[in-house]
Amino acid sequence: MDSAGPVESDRRAVKEQEGETSMTDKFVVRSGWLIDGTGTPTLRQGFLQVTQGRITSVGSGNPPSEKGTRTLDFSHCTVLPALVDCHVHLCRSGAPEPPQQRQSVPRASGETDRRIARHLRLCLEAGIVAVREGGDPHASTLRFRKERLAGDSPIRLLSPGAAWHAAGRYGAILGRAVPPGRTLAECVSQHLDSADHVKIVQSGLNSLSRFGYETPAQFATSDLKAAVEAAHGNGLRAMIHANGFLPVRSAVEAGCDSVEHGFFMGKENLERMAERGISWVPTACAMLACAQTAPPGSLERETARRTLDRQIELIASARAIGVQIACGTDSGTPGVLHGSSIWTELSLLAKAGFSVEEAVRCATFHGARLLGLEQTLGILASGMPASFVAVRADPSRLFETAGRLGPVALYVNGAEVAIPVPESLILAEGA
Ligand SMILES: [Zn+2]
Repeated sequence: MDSAGPVESDRRAVKEQEGETSMTDKFVVRSGWLIDGTGTPTLRQGFLQVTQGRITSVGSGNPPSEKGTRTLDFSHCTVLPALVDCHVHLCRSGAPEPPQQRQSVPRASGETDRRIARHLRLCLEAGIVAVREGGDPHASTLRFRKERLAGDSPIRLLSPGAAWHAAGRYGAILGRAVPPGRTLAECVSQHLDSADHVKIVQSGLNSLSRFGYETPAQFATSDLKAAVEAAHGNGLRAMIHANGFLPVRSAVEAGCDSVEHGFFMGKENLERMAERGISWVPTACAMLACAQTAPPGSLERETARRTLDRQIELIASARAIGVQIACGTDSGTPGVLHGSSIWTELSLLAKAGFSVEEAVRCATFHGARLLGLEQTLGILASGMPASFVAVRADPSRLFETAGRLGPVALYVNGAEVAIPVPESLILAEGA
């Protein structure tokens, strides 16, 4: 069994070996196992050569030795690309109790900012270097990204501001209702200049009392399509919350970039998504959290368990059909903790039949591509920035170990990120 002790001493050993980390120098990363993020088989004793923060070569065995090149010895670790979480709620804590949860979106900006900063630190400490916010009612995460996030922060935050939902329907905790007399497309168009992407809520939540109960679509397909086209016309992508066959079908027909959750969507929708290149963010770990936090023996617990099993079957179908899955956790929702939950999501992909390499690709390359960050993140290949994590486990125990202990090291653009992460790496000075 691993324990916190050896991990701490690992971190110290690595620090002593490398001395001062600098973007301008050369170093070699030796790994026990190297997973490059493309889905290709693990390289045993893989190495990376890094110059000025970029990877110059990837190989296995003994790296060519060059005078003055430092070696980072992760030969007891699996090294993989730094991760991307495509669905987070940074204003919310993930507190498992529903009453606390309801009160957990503070309006005051000082308190909210400290909370967002704390959650971003947890993400980094889990090896996540880019997150996509799923919406908050006061657009606090978007304001934070613009006004408070340190300019040289190792973590990227993309936010839609507030999500849009239909009046009287689910979504108030994520954003705003379309006002009477306005269309969704008009509302979306008005806010395109400031947001990083668009988030639309097209169905309700999954029922935990009626298994597979489908809520009606919130918006007509034509209205949804006009909203997605407005986003695309402004260079923004659209993420659509949709559960059930009809809500997902309309999201797919509208041409969205990703279906969020997609519980009970059915195989026909998966086939259309594969044809149209639409990503799926299944957030299965959020349903696992429902199953784990509901009272033992309750209907909610049983329904959540069955819903999760159904989602895992659907994920297996998506793999067979060739739908691009990107990992998102829904962290911040009840029982879903920021950061470490990404490793739980990876374990659930493995349960659905993904190889370790295929699962890692969903939380690295596929995530980076969905966020439009694939030029700088997601794979370990020559020419890419050296942004990677090292986990003290072989690939067979990678997800479980990382979920429990976190990575032993995180590098972004060739520079080590200290763990625990100092607040100064998140909050801009004097902000
Ligand atoms: Zn969400």
